[in-house]
Amino acid sequence: MQSSNEICERTMAATPVSRPTSTPPTTTSTTRPSTSSKPGYVVIGGGIAGVTCVEHLSLLSPDIPITLVTASPLVKAVTNFRQISKVIEHFSVEEKHASNLQSSVRGLSIVHAMVSGIDAAKQVITIDDGESIPYSKLCICSGGQPDIICKDNPNVLGIRDTETVKSFQKKLAAANRVAVIGNGGIATELVYEIQGSTVIWAIRDKSISHTFVDAGAAEFFLPHLKSEKESVAGPSKRMIYAVSDADNIDSTKGSSSGGALGPDWSNGVSMQGGGSGHHPVYVEYECEVQRILTAEEYAQLGQAANILACDTMSQSWPVYILLTNGKLYGCDLIVSATGVNPNVAPFTKGPMPLTIAPDGGISVDDHMRTNLEHVYAAGDVCSASWQPAEQWFQMRLWSQARQMGAYAAKCMIADTSGQVIHQDFCFELFAHMTTFFGFKVVLLGKFNGQGLDKKDYEALVRVTLGVEYIKVILKDGKMYGAILIGDTDLEETFENLILNKTDLTRYGEDLLNPGVDIEDYFD
Ligand code: FAD
Repeated sequence: MQSSNEICERTMAATPVSRPTSTPPTTTSTTRPSTSSKPGYVVIGGGIAGVTCVEHLSLLSPDIPITLVTASPLVKAVTNFRQISKVIEHFSVEEKHASNLQSSVRGLSIVHAMVSGIDAAKQVITIDDGESIPYSKLCICSGGQPDIICKDNPNVLGIRDTETVKSFQKKLAAANRVAVIGNGGIATELVYEIQGSTVIWAIRDKSISHTFVDAGAAEFFLPHLKSEKESVAGPSKRMIYAVSDADNIDSTKGSSSGGALGPDWSNGVSMQGGGSGHHPVYVEYECEVQRILTAEEYAQLGQAANILACDTMSQSWPVYILLTNGKLYGCDLIVSATGVNPNVAPFTKGPMPLTIAPDGGISVDDHMRTNLEHVYAAGDVCSASWQPAEQWFQMRLWSQARQMGAYAAKCMIADTSGQVIHQDFCFELFAHMTTFFGFKVVLLGKFNGQGLDKKDYEALVRVTLGVEYIKVILKDGKMYGAILIGDTDLEETFENLILNKTDLTRYGEDLLNPGVDIEDYFD
């Protein structure tokens, strides 16, 4: 059991470093530490994990030389950080030129290059021009690449960074029909935001947005998908929700590039298709992509397939998509939002390769250490291979990339000085805050009963259509997780109930009784 001081100290350690405002230099210095220079800390990747790691290394050990090696000239910066509760964070992300980071982190060298290999015996990494960079400790934060369903068709896009968003916007501007493949956060945001273009949304699950929310929450969202983004107010009802197979998710399954986009990546990004106003969204449930066809391949296939007549402007399309449910759609553009593959290629070659976990990420222990001495990994590229706390699991999210980057820095410094440290408090409870269909969404703990035996838990749900959706997972009278949609203001209370393992048996269904002020109850 931790003392409150310990908790406070650990939480503080993961908060972002405030930077002095200064005028950035006009050019980026890319002084490369050579093999003859004294090796310092080296961080690979200018995404949020890498940048946070650099900032925390500098904060914790201001005199040690740090080198950031990144393939992209832009790096990420956390702004408007708010600690909502002990573990829930909210922040914005900006992309800045690498020189901005250099001006605020003392002793930082930035090398703009692709890392092509690692020699752990010599403690050096090699970059694309063949040069070597020595390290005393290395943190790999190389993120991931979109897992695109078809790489050789220019009408099939993945969304990962600013470049890919620009390319998507350009193609969307002329599109009358777009197919979105995938059922995670990116697909959900895209389908909601796209205007002026008919959307075919192909998902392999029984309900929308399944990576994040259960079937009940999906039902809550559906009216907002189909009815011009207006709130649908309705009577309040509550029920005991029967858990089905579809409620269990496996959260872990799911060239050079810039860092992945941030939490509010779709804000201010025009998603205007070739038409005007609201266009329909057709959801194709429980199917996958069987084949992508070019116009020529479609012509060879003939007219036998079933094409939905949802757009009368044209019967000829640049690309066609054949789904496993037998339906074939012609469209202008296909967006593949089917997850990311960790960027591990440069680190899996040679006599001492890094251990790769079954989900493709670099395996790390509870101190972000890989199997190679002095080598750490953080963010989307790593796989948390430790025995997780009961209420935490890894999801490749912005918030976890930041927390892992900060914690990896702390571990690198502690290992250098031989200090023993506890794992950061943020790994005690899964917490994610986002926005779907215009609603605030907070996910806590095992919010979908992940990893729990269906027989062992029950879910209590309160729904006020168009206003809020609250679901709690209860096991042995204790709260294990919660989904909070809308302005419920319950996140802090529920976080405490989960963390404190409060016995809620005596409250029964009153826990979500609309007439009971839960916040006051547990004050
Ligand atoms: P990245 O941001 O991918 O950064 C990797 C860095 O490594 C880059 O700078 C890259 O240039 C560099 N690099 C890669 N390979 C090499 C190499 N060999 N040599 C040198 N440098 C290299 N998360 C949320 O929490 N909420 C959201 O709403 C959300 N929405 C998202 C929307 C989109 C469209 C996408 C794509 C992701 C979204 N995510 C969201 C996920 C989130 O963005 C990622 O989890 C997070 O950015 C990962 O950060 P990272 O630093 O680990 O990796």
